[in-house]
Amino acid sequence: MNGLLTTLLACCLVLSVGCAAVADGEMSPRDHPSPAWALALHGGAGVIPKDLPADQIDGYRQVLRAALVEGRRRLESGGSALDAVEAVVRRLEDDPRFNAGKGAVFTHDATHELDASIMDGRDLSCGAVTGVRTIRHPITLARRVMENTRHVFLMGDGAEEFADTTKVERVPNHYFSTAKRRRSLEKALRRDDASTETRKGTVGCVALDKMGNLAAATSTGGMTNKRWGRIGDSPVIGAGTWADNNNCAVSCTGTGEEYIRRSVARDLGALVEYRAMTLEDAARHIVFDKLERGDGGLIAVSARGEIAMIFNTKGMFRGAANSMGRFDIAIWE
Ligand code: ASP
Repeated sequence: MNGLLTTLLACCLVLSVGCAAVADGEMSPRDHPSPAWALALHGGAGVIPKDLPADQIDGYRQVLRAALVEGRRRLESGGSALDAVEAVVRRLEDDPRFNAGKGAVFTHDATHELDASIMDGRDLSCGAVTGVRTIRHPITLARRVMENTRHVFLMGDGAEEFADTTKVERVPNHYFSTAKRRRSLEKALRRDDASTETRKGTVGCVALDKMGNLAAATSTGGMTNKRWGRIGDSPVIGAGTWADNNNCAVSCTGTGEEYIRRSVARDLGALVEYRAMTLEDAARHIVFDKLERGDGGLIAVSARGEIAMIFNTKGMFRGAANSMGRFDIAIWE
């Protein structure tokens, strides 16, 4: 009889401790429902003046929203993360407001040299191009490198030659030019610097699809007044782009040299994988403790559908959506 009483008491104790933990809000992250799909995009980080004319702000918001709708449509209907990130980036490459595709910044020689990379979290396959001059959608050429060659990274003339063997759309180099970017080059030439101030507008997208696969894509014109074949982080796998189903997908934007030095995108994946940090904590650690103020930002989505969009600049064009009804666009903090 005594034994039965002791067992009953022990059961009550275990139950009440369990209830107290839940009441205190100490649910383990695994107990939280995860979204079936999730998506984040960026249109570059930097000094984005808060007093921009209202119609310009509206314009940015509209194109970010349209790109987010496109990604949401694909993921909601069961499309792959890879197709979603490519489609979102293609759309942003077509918009002259962003420093990718049409609207890319000018090099020192008043031309355009475009960089892009894409990564598939299923098997770490990836593709990248740098210094391409006639490719309307560099992100699609990067995907072709991934899918149609044994290589990962093609540059300049070789990448153009490879493009000749594919059906990617070609345009003359001046197609990418805009008056705004030309003014930025003139200003940078007068000051004789490679301007980080005017480089904002790189675009990127990360996604988790319903099958549980992650993908990331990034595309840019680089830095105004860049010379000597300068390459930033955007086409460098592990620096500007990373995706691994085991941890997360990342797309960065900012001063490329700093991102290359620190292997930022891969470092974020490593913190999540090896130190079991949450996506948000890992992203904050990198952006605020490793990078310097003003360097830039990043977007990331984890295998559980968490989204992080962190930056140490005044603003970052960005948007996020998921299967649980999230849909938001933001520019400043
Ligand atoms: N990361 C890009 C580069 O350095 C520029 C940017 O994201 O603003 O080429």
